[in-house]
Parts: sequence; C-alpha cells; structure tokens
Amino acid sequence: KSGFVTIVGRPNVGKSTLINSIVGQKILIMSDKPQTTRNKIQTIYNDENSQIIFLDTPGIHKPKNKLGEHMVKAAKDTLNEVDVIVFLVDESKNIGPGDRYILELLQDVKTPVILGINKIDKIEPDIFKGIYEEYSKYNVFDEIIGLSAINGKNVDVLIEKITDRL
Ligand code: GDP
Ligand code: MG
Repeated sequence: KSGFVTIVGRPNVGKSTLINSIVGQKILIMSDKPQTTRNKIQTIYNDENSQIIFLDTPGIHKPKNKLGEHMVKAAKDTLNEVDVIVFLVDESKNIGPGDRYILELLQDVKTPVILGINKIDKIEPDIFKGIYEEYSKYNVFDEIIGLSAINGKNVDVLIEKITDRL
C-alpha cells in the first residue's frame, strides 16, 4: 500500500520529533520556516506493507493578512488531497485556540483524521482519559491514539492505523 499523509498541529506538540521517530534516525532537515512551496515532501517511510509519503502542510494559524490567507488555502488543499491526516496534540489539558482553529478546519475535510495525543510519557492514565474524552466530543476523528514520539511508544500502532486507510 502506498499513500500520502500530513501531520498537522500547533507548534511544539512534537510533529518533528514524531517524524524523526517514524524514520528512526535523525537524518531529516527540519525546518519550521514558513513554507512557500506546496506539498513539500518531509520524509518517506517504507516497510514490507507500506510506503507512506509524509507531506509538510504549511502552518495552520488563523490568518492575519493576505499571505496568511494564502497559506491557509494551501493547507486546506493539502488536507483535502492526502489520504490520511494525523492531527497531533500534546498533553496540555485544555484545548487551546491553536488546536481549536485546526479542529474547525478538519470539520470541513473528507480525509480520514487520526488524532495523536502525544507526550503521554508526561501524564498519568486518568489525565490521558480526560484528554481522550475531551477530543472525542468532536466528531472528526476516525481513530485516537496516545503516543510518545520521544521514546517511540505507539508509533508502530500509528503506522498500522495509517496503513489501514491507504
Ligand atoms: P513541533 O513544533 O510540533 O515540530 O515540535 P517538536 O518536535 O519540535 O517538539 C517540541 C518539544 O517537545 C521538544 O522539546 C521535544 O523534545 C518535546 N517532545 C516531543 N515529543 C515528546 C514526547 O513524546 N514526550 C515528551 N516528554 N516531550 C516531547
Ligand atoms: Mg517542527
């Protein structure tokens, strides 16, 4: 199976760390500079079952000007074109405005969305349960997975769930 995936989420939730964990080695050139090129390939994951091409989606923030509007439009196009979206959040208890803005965008796309709740190494199971329940209220997720990008926990499960949808 083969297909395209994008990981979205506000800054610092662990997107780059997750990508690194997926490729298993830090050979990527990571950049958080605003992207002008659309659909830039971040990395390609290969195993015996799947080839997953991760595309970089330009930052999704509430637009403040014309350039911002243009980038959001480009981001929306990417979200509609990929096979699977991974929406990454972290263990912060409250769903912040940055998260909520992306959630609103995701409500408009038909692409399957997997929610990754990252940094579970930092929290107790009951806190995780609370976050899980909070996000479950939004009817946009096909799957919700707790992850620790930094130590690779459940990264294999994420790959499996992505592959199921390719
Ligand atoms: P990005 O802005 O979404 O790309 O986030 P980064 O990958 O740059 O990570 C932001 C910070 O969170 C860094 O200091 C990471 O080391 C840390 N981080 C990422 N994933 C995890 C995780 O699973 N657990 C913990 N404890 N920290 C993490
Ligand atoms: Mg990053």
